[in-house]
Amino acid sequence: MTSTCDLCSSPGGELLYEDDLARIVSVESADYPGYCRVVLRAHVRELTDLPPVDRRHLMDLVFATETAVLGTVNPDKINVASLGNVTPHVHWHVIPRWSLDPCFPNPIWGKQLRDPSPRHPPQNLTGKLRAAIALHLAD
Ligand SMILES: [Zn+2]
Repeated sequence: MTSTCDLCSSPGGELLYEDDLARIVSVESADYPGYCRVVLRAHVRELTDLPPVDRRHLMDLVFATETAVLGTVNPDKINVASLGNVTPHVHWHVIPRWSLDPCFPNPIWGKQLRDPSPRHPPQNLTGKLRAAIALHLAD
C-alpha cells in the first residue's frame, strides 16, 4: 500500500524528529502555526494493531509534541486527533488553537465561523519546535 498512501510516499511536513517507530513533522499552516503531526513509520491502520510498547512510545511522542507546541506558540488550547479516514495510516494531529481562529470551537476541519486573522508565529518556528521536542524527549 506504500505507493497509494500519502504518509508512506511523503514525510507529510517538515521533519522535526524521527526514530525507529515514528517521525514528527511540522505542517505548513497560516491559520494554525505550530501544527504538527506524529506519523508512524510503518503503514499500520489502527492503533490497536500496534504492540503495547509501541503504543506507549507513540503517545510519548504525542505528549512531547503537545508540550513543545504549547511552549512555542502559546495557544489557548491544543487539539489532539487521530482520524485516518482519508489516510488510514496511524498518525496524530497536534493542533494549536486560539479562541479567535477561523473555526474555534469547531475542529479545524469543521465549519468556519469567522475570517482568519493574521497570526505572527515566532521566528524560526520549526527550529524552536525541533529543539523543544528534543528537550522533552530527553526528560
Ligand atoms: Zn501508509
